[in-house]
Amino acid sequence: MPELPDVESFKTYFKKTSLNKVIIDVQCSCKDLIRNINFKDLKSKLVGRRFIDINRRGKFLICEIKNIPEKLILHFGMTGNLHYVKQNTKKDRFTRLVIKFENGYELRLFSIRKLAKIYLVEDPEEVKLIREMGPEPLTISEKDFFKILDRHQRKNIKAFLLDQRNIAGIGNVYSDEILFKAKIDPHKSIETIGLKQRKKLFKSMKMVLEEAIDCNMYFDSSWLIVHRNTDMKCPRNENHKLKREIIAGRSCYFCPICQANNSCINRYEDAS
Ligand SMILES: [Zn+2]
Repeated sequence: MPELPDVESFKTYFKKTSLNKVIIDVQCSCKDLIRNINFKDLKSKLVGRRFIDINRRGKFLICEIKNIPEKLILHFGMTGNLHYVKQNTKKDRFTRLVIKFENGYELRLFSIRKLAKIYLVEDPEEVKLIREMGPEPLTISEKDFFKILDRHQRKNIKAFLLDQRNIAGIGNVYSDEILFKAKIDPHKSIETIGLKQRKKLFKSMKMVLEEAIDCNMYFDSSWLIVHRNTDMKCPRNENHKLKREIIAGRSCYFCPICQANNSCINRYEDAS
């Protein structure tokens, strides 16, 4: 699922390809994806206009349109993606929305499982998921992050990170990576995570998301993400085997040795 770093890369892509070009047509093969407006009205708002800026909030892109207060908002669901191609390029059957520009190119929104969402709103807060969204992890202060943790003491840490109402933009893959880098057992409830580990968690959250954006998702072997669907080896020690388990309703990958409770880490490290 596109998470914060992925959506950030879509933002950069959109900026490079689709700003300041006059829109000449809009097509949609799956009108159910359009949430708060009918397709005809969406099209009439966009045609003849141009996008002038784009921002990200959590896993959403917010596209500003010249001369009107409405913004086009995109959410990518489980498998969404953007492609900017020449208008005569063969269409993939998962292309759901096409925005054609006067320069002979078009922007295509893919969504294999039709879980993408499209909105046209004056205020992004009209979208319930944005209105209820927690702060951005790249800008939140440690103090404010700890305050949110304190409000959810009983909650499981993996479930906490996944819940967009606590903190925005983190999904299954990056929550695993954040917990791995902070050496926190994904089974833990927040109340059992001490101050030292909370500080590590905060640092790990920033580092993982910033570095994923910086490396443009070309991960080296120090990332869990590289091993989770391949050799299942722990990036810290190839003798550790990663474990896959359903936690917080999601398929969670972790190292049962590096992410054991502190006492266990010492025990295992002494033994190895
Ligand atoms: Zn390990």
